[in-house]
Amino acid sequence: MQSCRKIFIHPSESNQSGFLFLYKLNEAKLYIHSESKYTFNEAELYILRESNYIFLEKRKMEKIKIAIQKSGRLSEKSIDLLTECGIRISNGTRKLKTEAGNFPMEILFLRDDDIPQYVEQGVADIGILGQNEVWEKDKNVDIVEELGFSNCRLSLAIPKDEAYNDLKFFENRRIATSYPKILDKFFTQKGIKVSIEELGGSVEIATGIGLADAIFDIVSTGSTLIMNGLKEVETVVKSQAVLISNKNLSESKKQLLDELLFRIKAYKNGLGKKYVLLNAPNEVIPDIIKLLPGMRSPSILPLADKGWSSVHSVINDDDFWEIIDELKRMGAEGILVIPIEKMIL
Ligand code: ATP
Ligand code: MG
Repeated sequence: MQSCRKIFIHPSESNQSGFLFLYKLNEAKLYIHSESKYTFNEAELYILRESNYIFLEKRKMEKIKIAIQKSGRLSEKSIDLLTECGIRISNGTRKLKTEAGNFPMEILFLRDDDIPQYVEQGVADIGILGQNEVWEKDKNVDIVEELGFSNCRLSLAIPKDEAYNDLKFFENRRIATSYPKILDKFFTQKGIKVSIEELGGSVEIATGIGLADAIFDIVSTGSTLIMNGLKEVETVVKSQAVLISNKNLSESKKQLLDELLFRIKAYKNGLGKKYVLLNAPNEVIPDIIKLLPGMRSPSILPLADKGWSSVHSVINDDDFWEIIDELKRMGAEGILVIPIEKMIL
């Protein structure tokens, strides 16, 4: 064990208060693994009883290695997600590798295509990338969380003037794609024989230059297809960014992954939600409660003004305007709507 700091706590302080002191001092998280092993802030502490003293040694704790896209559609959003989780990345994305300022994490900047392989091999422990890339590479990794951004679909498209009825259209046709595995699996399941032309990029021009009869590619708004004289005829799968993990993480890395997942979920729970505060006469409160069920049920607090109460609750962004109109109609006043940063359920 590599020792870098020794701390003595007198037994009269007691084990508990000694830790409490350290805890407050560092404003850090204390994990209890067993009676003699603790993970504390970014260090592992081992407690050895020596005569009348508790003797602590500190050693550097393992860091979890996360792979994110170096430059592309996912890069900024991946960094934003980590920032929302309270993880500071200071060195920018120009380096291949950097360390988080306040979380035991190393960040590797890679091409998204390579991330599944690196995570399978354990070069990175976890990674953020599109589900489409995970399916295509088909590596032995776990998808641990859907992240809710970079939503897109993988679709089949054909020249806009072609008549289309069903999938039989594709029988013995040439289809250009960067996702040959997903496409082959799809048509094999359907029992339809097609010829797949694998391309690295610019798939949308393949029909125009006579390389293929159709394409299979990522679509989000569909504007690229229209610009290239194509029409979308079948959606094969929907995709979004996901967090993947190596299947054999050490215990301490599993703990770090759990901590990260806890933060990601708190952030995701707050997305698309608003906190509402309002005042209303007591007689309409039961109707307002029906309209604002909240997480468990809304909080109702009496106002100094007799006969009035204040109501606190959470609403979905999508229902926002409709609910606010209804609340005003019911007699609610002083309605405050506040964004939610994180929500721990
Ligand atoms: P790299 O050079 O790192 O391999 P790339 O060109 O393969 O990058 P990008 O175009 O940056 O990849 O897209 C990365 C991921 O973002 C895709 O795999 C997909 O999951 C998602 N994505 C791609 N296009 C869109 C889009 N139009 N809308 C939403 N998400 C998209
Ligand atoms: Mg790529």
